Amino acid sequence: MDKNSFAFQAIGHIRSPFREKFGIPRQPGLVTAAQVELWLSPQFSPAALSGLEGFSHLWLSFVFHQHLQRPWHERVRPPRLGGNEKVGVFASRSPFRPNPIGLSVVPWHGWRQEQGQLVLSLGGADLLDGTPVLDIKPYIPFVDSLPEAKGGFAEQPPPLREVRFCPEALQQLQHWQQQYPQLLELVRQILAQDPRPAYQQQDEREYGVLVYQLNVRFRSQGQALEVTGVQPLAE
Ligand code: SAM
Repeated sequence: MDKNSFAFQAIGHIRSPFREKFGIPRQPGLVTAAQVELWLSPQFSPAALSGLEGFSHLWLSFVFHQHLQRPWHERVRPPRLGGNEKVGVFASRSPFRPNPIGLSVVPWHGWRQEQGQLVLSLGGADLLDGTPVLDIKPYIPFVDSLPEAKGGFAEQPPPLREVRFCPEALQQLQHWQQQYPQLLELVRQILAQDPRPAYQQQDEREYGVLVYQLNVRFRSQGQALEVTGVQPLAE
């Protein structure tokens, strides 16, 4: 057996409002309205979660499963550096890495059983719909919270954009909000992060971000971003 090769089974999969990569926050906690679910594989019973109720946050390790075949490079351009400067892949959180494994810390709000599976409710995630999860661990504040730690080139959270809604888009979002109660706030928080690549941020053209099955159209208006319309995708 090759001692350097390992095969892991996903313990479950994420159900998320993010159906494509564009618009997903670049880290957890930036879009708190991005509530997701982790559906554990049927092999797990509540026994696997016992004791977890005392912890408010969880570490998730997961696979960057989309574009798994895309090559990785030793030097990458983190969005935080405007997409111009390069750093080593190990100094970045790029999804394109030698082993495409991600790590996110998220609040969790409990679990239920549905269709023979355990379903964990999680908050503020940066995960694509369908993301395979490899492991869950409790976040332990006295170990994992290090106030003296330095943040390198990502010392501060990214600046936020003002988000406006044109009256028609607002009406459309309010309509869909009956189905997705946090939709308006979710769209506002996603766009406040300005998902456009840094080199396109002066661009006046219209963009679309896919949230659930809705194509939310927006464009820049000075320093703000304005939601111009909402188009449901054909099922
Ligand atoms: N917090 C994790 C970490 O540090 O390992 C992920 C950070 S990574 C910069 C977050 C980005 O990964 C998201 O904005 C999205 O573009 C991408 N992403 C999320 N889920 C993914 C998946 N299942 N496959 C590929 N890319 C994914």
